[in-house]
Amino acid sequence: MSVQGSLDQQWARVRGRLKDEVGETAYRSWLKPLTVADFEGGQVRIVVPTRFMRDWIRTHYADRIKALWSGENPGVQSVEIVVAAPSRVAEPVGAPAIVANDSPPPRHEPEPEPLPVSHHGGSEDRADELTAPLDPRFTFENFVVGKPNELAFAAARRVADASSVTFNPLFLYGGVGLGKTHLMHAIAWHIRKKDPPRRVIYLSAEKFMYQFIRALRFKDTMAFKEQFRSVDVLMIDDVQFISGKDSTQEEFFHTFNALVDQNRQVIISADKSPSDLEGMEERLRSRLGWGLVADIHPTTYELRLGILQQKADRIGAKIPPKVLEFLAHKITSNVRELEGALNRIVAHAELVGRAITLESAQDVLHDLLRASNRRVTIEEIQKKVAEHFNIRLADMSSARRARAVARPRQVAMYLAKQLTQRSLPEIGRKFGDRDHTTVMHAVRKVEELCGSDPAFAEDVELLRRMLEG
Ligand code: ADP
Ligand code: MG
Repeated sequence: MSVQGSLDQQWARVRGRLKDEVGETAYRSWLKPLTVADFEGGQVRIVVPTRFMRDWIRTHYADRIKALWSGENPGVQSVEIVVAAPSRVAEPVGAPAIVANDSPPPRHEPEPEPLPVSHHGGSEDRADELTAPLDPRFTFENFVVGKPNELAFAAARRVADASSVTFNPLFLYGGVGLGKTHLMHAIAWHIRKKDPPRRVIYLSAEKFMYQFIRALRFKDTMAFKEQFRSVDVLMIDDVQFISGKDSTQEEFFHTFNALVDQNRQVIISADKSPSDLEGMEERLRSRLGWGLVADIHPTTYELRLGILQQKADRIGAKIPPKVLEFLAHKITSNVRELEGALNRIVAHAELVGRAITLESAQDVLHDLLRASNRRVTIEEIQKKVAEHFNIRLADMSSARRARAVARPRQVAMYLAKQLTQRSLPEIGRKFGDRDHTTVMHAVRKVEELCGSDPAFAEDVELLRRMLEG
């Protein structure tokens, strides 16, 4: 009895692990009905109600059960699946919802590859299991629109409002923390509210990959594809993570094509434009760029300030405009950090029960500000920028005004302003004794160009990252 007792406990743990791996629905259909009969001579015998289930479990889950079980108990050398009674036609116990393709009707003889069952309710389960939770704050209402993100915002709105497919795919791209995920969630919220029957799936490319690899392991790629069949809108976030993984890429490509062919809306995000996605197959790259490609540019001061104001209003915090301006000025890397800084200031003020001032803000963010001015020197900036644009370092301080050297010089001034603590006059001095108004002009010019010229914005962003990293 005690052996059986501990056997049952082991089985409970194995089942728990399996459930985590295969998900609730597959678990309910396939694994829950299993019972453990006995353990003898290193072999565990598991009983299933039907022959069909026996075969299915053998091909799909037995190896995994064995592996998990020997992890629990090294004495377990094999797992045998047996049918309880003479094979009667019976519904698997505890599997009321026959789900898409990983549970074909048990009445049929087993087939090498199971046939998909078009059972809408069923695949809904699967889909809802697949989709990642949505952040309630990530709505269109909470998204502040400015020059750098107006195209992406307009495209997202359009897709969310349209009842038929507009641009397919919509490809959103931009640096870290600039609002890609926010916009995707906003689309999903909007559709859910406006048109609940439309099926929206949002998931990260990592999760997509994970699901697919799991399907491969359980030899269940048909079920994997089936999950996406009844989807109206599919969003995959951060597809740069798919690059390099050959089979996943292939699968992604097929899923993608199938959905686009069926006129389903696909929305993709990445940190680069389709053509710049390295490690991605050419045909996939070009396919991704077929619809509308909308980029989100690095934030401008105005946008940062707008976001801070909105956020402060939303949390009902009284923050002097000076403090918001200071933050918008100092924290330029991305919106996520900007929000983080604001939260910290507010939390601190509440904690110590004092009003927020410029001094307290500087104090609280002391480490963060130092990190964002991470020891980068103006000399380093000049050197990197000169290399990048292929001009002589001496031209950073020379009097030459040709565009080919003047523009890189402006970029270097801009970066010096962003990445160091130096004042405008100090920066000016380092650039061949130029006036502080020249530096100010350079900063404005570069911000303006970042807003109007995506390639230029990318250059600047790239340089910034190189210098910061
Ligand atoms: P990404 O997916 O591009 O890395 P996120 O969408 O996760 O970035 O955005 C990071 C954070 O910044 C989120 O909290 C998001 O709400 C916020 N954010 C980004 N852009 C905006 C914006 N324009 N207005 C309001 N919040 C924004
Ligand atoms: Mg994101």
